[in-house]
Amino acid sequence: MNSFTDELNRRLASLREQNLFRELRRVDSAQGPRIQIGGQSFLNFSSNDYLGLANHPALKEAAIKSVEKFGAGTGASRLVSGSLAPFHELEEALADFKKTEAALTFSTGYAAAVGTITALMGKEDVIILDKLVHACIVDAAKLSGAKLRIFDHNDLNDLAEKLQWATSDPQHSSPSSRHILIVTESVFSMDGDTAPLREIVALKEKFGAWLMVDEAHATGILGENGRGLAEALGVSSQVEIQMSTLGKALGASGGYICGSRALIDYLVNRARSFIFSTAPVPAAAAAATAALKLVQSPEGDAKRTALSTHVAALNLKLKTQNSKFQSAILPLILGDEPLALAAAAKLRTQNIFVPAIRYPTVARGAARLRITLTAKHSAAHLDELVTALAQIKIQN
Ligand SMILES: *Cc1c(COP(=O)(O)O)cnc(C)c1O
Repeated sequence: MNSFTDELNRRLASLREQNLFRELRRVDSAQGPRIQIGGQSFLNFSSNDYLGLANHPALKEAAIKSVEKFGAGTGASRLVSGSLAPFHELEEALADFKKTEAALTFSTGYAAAVGTITALMGKEDVIILDKLVHACIVDAAKLSGAKLRIFDHNDLNDLAEKLQWATSDPQHSSPSSRHILIVTESVFSMDGDTAPLREIVALKEKFGAWLMVDEAHATGILGENGRGLAEALGVSSQVEIQMSTLGKALGASGGYICGSRALIDYLVNRARSFIFSTAPVPAAAAAATAALKLVQSPEGDAKRTALSTHVAALNLKLKTQNSKFQSAILPLILGDEPLALAAAAKLRTQNIFVPAIRYPTVARGAARLRITLTAKHSAAHLDELVTALAQIKIQN
């Protein structure tokens, strides 16, 4: 009868069978350590709002003022209708924060990755990705048409092998015109571990490759004033393309690229997700600018200290520490998809919200509870979580 719907229902049934079906849960409150779902209050360990800025008065006030002055919407792409002041203020603040010549913002981090990688790389080129990079980078690399190589997660020998291949591929007629781009994350989104950026920088210099680092989960948290892991390791000036999101620790929404003036001018001309997309709402840019000011203030330092205290305490209790840099992502890897789903459901019966992360976000059979901490959690919240995990026998 209706073969389109029948086909979709078949596909959905297959997802359910594999325990991979997902559904949205409506939340009736702002981001915070407690959220309201279905009329009940849950202790929230699912948010990337690491510093608790998404509902911060300074960000809300900046967003409201910007709505009053610039309105709710933007009307067109920034190249078409003129580029509103809040984006320029934000980009100046970002370049200043990251100590780069320039910055460009996108509607999301996803759009930043897709626009940037496809603008820079083409079918003559090679992109080399860490096996665990975010889906937006994988999608961007595929869309670019470049040859794609994956190196084992954080494996420098494997990366060196792929670089060796890319610079000496006998099938390639003119290796001199070939560009090589390495892309990795600084803090990995589902594992919370960190990339050996110093060593990766040394390799990319040795082989003449370019390097793009996605700092989505380090921005606001690691390095001086929360500038990120590249800054903490003293290599940010050697990373050609510094990417991140405004939507996690910065509490707003959007994505950005920081780098040279030439890179930013080039992206304005060539990044299709920037050119062919309506500018984001000015409120998001204004909130992000307020967040940047906040993360570089004593209040930002205090929030980072609160967060790292919680992370250290919970890592100790759950034995989850996997990097000498403290990320706010603590995965409890359970393996089986049904096991992770059941664990998350049991925690929900105790009014604790921890997401079960499954394929395709992580590999099949590597399903996990992904606990994220924020500066706004308290020691009592952590105790509640630890007790609940012990009760459901995830931890003892
Ligand atoms: C969330 C995330 C993105 C995408 O950023 P958005 O602003 O949410 O689109 C990119 N990379 C990583 C590693 C992320 O975790």
